[in-house]
Amino acid sequence: MKIMINGIHANLRFSSAHIIPNHESCGCIHGHSYFVDVEIEGERSGKFEFVADFKDVKDSVRKICKKLDHKMLIPINNENMEFKGLDSSNELSMDDFKNIKYLDFIIGNKNYKLPIEDCVLLPLKHTSAEELSKYFTYKLFEDIQNKGYSIATISLCVNEGIGQGALFKKEL
Ligand SMILES: [Zn+2]
Repeated sequence: MKIMINGIHANLRFSSAHIIPNHESCGCIHGHSYFVDVEIEGERSGKFEFVADFKDVKDSVRKICKKLDHKMLIPINNENMEFKGLDSSNELSMDDFKNIKYLDFIIGNKNYKLPIEDCVLLPLKHTSAEELSKYFTYKLFEDIQNKGYSIATISLCVNEGIGQGALFKKEL
């Protein structure tokens, strides 16, 4: 059986700024009011014979939304972003940023400097809807498994506002 959660109606939302380096129109800092739709398939089990308790799923998704909300999303593995003071010849990890107060980075001929508390670092190549949906799905999958559910698939859509989104499906 499958359970479905509509992100607009269930308030699984976040508003963030991002940039898609070197993209013609998305290469400038801009923002979206995102929302996240979720579908989970699995066997019904437990005292109440749920696939998964809606509250548990919503709590997990909201936790991820909250981390990203009102922040600038930074894809630390983007090949077109050069972070000053860091050696990006190897893939950067979160640890490389732990003593940094300002993110100072170059994209093409533009230089950005942002306080780190205004940003959220993501281990991604892009902060596209595609990459964000994959990121959310893996985080949710881990969290839901830790809550003891045995699920078969998660399909999760990160919508960049109404009318466009990317859906990622993870099967066990
Ligand atoms: Zn965008």
